Amino acid sequence: MSEYRYQLEKYRGRGTRYTCPKCRRKHTFTRYIDTYNNNIYINDNVGKCNRLDKCGYHYTPHQYFEDNPMKSDVCLFKTIGFLNKQTSKDTSSHFDTIPEWIVEGSLQRGNAHVEWLRGVFNPIDVERVVGDYQIGGTREGHAVFWQRDSEGRVRTGKIMAYDPTTGKRLKGGGSVDWVHSTMLRQGLVEEFSLRQCLYGEHLLSRYPDLAVGVVESYKTVHIASIILPQLVWCATDSLSGLTAERLSSLRGRRVVLFPDEGRGYEEWSSKISKIAHDVGFDYRISSFVEGGMYGGGADIGDIVNVEEYCPF
Ligand SMILES: [Zn+2]
Repeated sequence: MSEYRYQLEKYRGRGTRYTCPKCRRKHTFTRYIDTYNNNIYINDNVGKCNRLDKCGYHYTPHQYFEDNPMKSDVCLFKTIGFLNKQTSKDTSSHFDTIPEWIVEGSLQRGNAHVEWLRGVFNPIDVERVVGDYQIGGTREGHAVFWQRDSEGRVRTGKIMAYDPTTGKRLKGGGSVDWVHSTMLRQGLVEEFSLRQCLYGEHLLSRYPDLAVGVVESYKTVHIASIILPQLVWCATDSLSGLTAERLSSLRGRRVVLFPDEGRGYEEWSSKISKIAHDVGFDYRISSFVEGGMYGGGADIGDIVNVEEYCPF
């Protein structure tokens, strides 16, 4: 658990200072907040009295969770993990999910990718896409793309750093990460069994009559959802993410694949017919970005003339 997760609430007027549970003086008690969970209070009595020498009351989150072990997220995760292992007979089908409070926390924060979208596209379209895909943010302003499956479970989130002005990805260390990996590093979970799903899978039932556009990247999903709303858009996360398991939710749908130029087109063309047969869907594969007109590795997001969509 990060030592910075729990912090004394910053002073924002007398309303943020409470009656001390020990000396009963009004407006002298500062509570601890949980910065991973919408800044909620740990408990009414967890905090510090400002009258250090006269009263000296200080009840820390650490002490509170020692006294109330079931209230701790770490404990809760361990219990859930234990129960899952006890009840899951077929261990190969077991996978872990991200708790909703982590997703909720990310939705309170802005991020550079959405900032860029807002600067380029019509705000109404952007808000629809941000709401549909529940694009979140980290405290550093990086985007979090949640993989929510058709049952509403969040499999993981990909964390990506963007330049808010150009919309391009920032390169270098720490610019790509996963939420389950950060939970492991922070000790929130001891192990995490990952099974990725399609990005956008939770929207398939919301738009049952639309054909499904499948692309590789998250950013392309958002751009395509704005400029081609006739389809519901999903991403495989990577070139190798085009598998029967990840596409299993597409059974019975009409599917249009938009692979990246070059290698993407070759690999997806060679794999899709068996996958479509195994899962059970009709498909077309778009060669829209083929032919070298848009450069190697281009995707349909790259060929959009963003000036055309600028509302200003
Ligand atoms: Zn006091």
